[in-house]
Amino acid sequence: MGNNLKHIGVLTSGGDAPGMNAAIRAVVRACTHYDLKVSGIHEGYQGLIDGNFQELDARAVAHIINRGGTMLKSARCMEFRSKEGREKAYEQAKKQGLDALVVIGGDGSFTGASLFSKEFDIPVVGIPGTIDNDIYGTDYTIGFDTALNTVVDAIDKIRDTATSHNRLFFIECMGRDAGFIALNAGIAGGATEILIPEDDKEVDDVVAKLKASRDAKKSSNIVLVAEGDQLGGDVFKLARDAGERLPGYDIRVSVLGHIQRGGSPTCSDRVLGSRLGVAAIEQLMSGHSGIMVGLRNDTVTTETLHDAITKKPGINRNLMHVAEIVSL
Ligand code: ADP
Repeated sequence: MGNNLKHIGVLTSGGDAPGMNAAIRAVVRACTHYDLKVSGIHEGYQGLIDGNFQELDARAVAHIINRGGTMLKSARCMEFRSKEGREKAYEQAKKQGLDALVVIGGDGSFTGASLFSKEFDIPVVGIPGTIDNDIYGTDYTIGFDTALNTVVDAIDKIRDTATSHNRLFFIECMGRDAGFIALNAGIAGGATEILIPEDDKEVDDVVAKLKASRDAKKSSNIVLVAEGDQLGGDVFKLARDAGERLPGYDIRVSVLGHIQRGGSPTCSDRVLGSRLGVAAIEQLMSGHSGIMVGLRNDTVTTETLHDAITKKPGINRNLMHVAEIVSL
């Protein structure tokens, strides 16, 4: 691999996700392997603008692969949204002697990365890190699998109390505008009904499903609602509306919230972060820029940042079909 790279910067940006540390570690160790200098940039694009850099070596990233969150911290940086802000970031990158940048984050972070790589002569490669799995060009984003397992664990626990009291629970989970978390966790957690933005179910459908469930003598029911679903905008209102038409049901609502972002990353997320971290450095060394590394059919692939942020990853219709059948 021929290249002129000497010094690479890595940052995490936007919503944090378990497995980001595995990706940072892999980036740093790939740089060590290929004899490149690497700096961790703290607090995302804000740290790039402010010069909040820390040179890292292989030992500096010891004991982080098992930890959630991100050792580099993440931030939301308004200034980077403007051309002037990105100019400041470029000046700082030059001052620090950066030859290339690795951005670990979601679609917002990639939008910034895409603009930055087009406006200035600094190669940028993205690594998809978000629990929502809402990035085009990869089957899985880093953090998705851990979040799924957290949601399923929460459903299992709620199920214990739901069954003990013959209760109906409406549970809201994360996912932003996408239903990947809800659909997968709903199947795995045995939800009676799953509401996702990619589907257009109404309160009528939910009520009909729950009535059928009562007829089928189910002792507990879970309705899993993605936060981005049209009915999920206010899960308390949804529970009230459905409850008015379901006399006799003892109804509770649980919003899972930020526990879904935390926790030790699963094996899958650690391996994914490791593969994509190494791939990002190898792509930069091969002269690529303005791309994201991802995983398709268990093979590391690349996608332009432009397509990663403008195209929508489709929901798996077969999973919706399966969810309908196994929830009987
Ligand atoms: P995520 O990467 O998880 O989607 P955000 O949407 O909050 O998270 O984006 C993270 C950061 O990326 C923002 O704080 C901002 O610095 C940068 N960013 C987001 N959108 C843009 C944009 N349209 N132009 C430039 N930078 C952006």
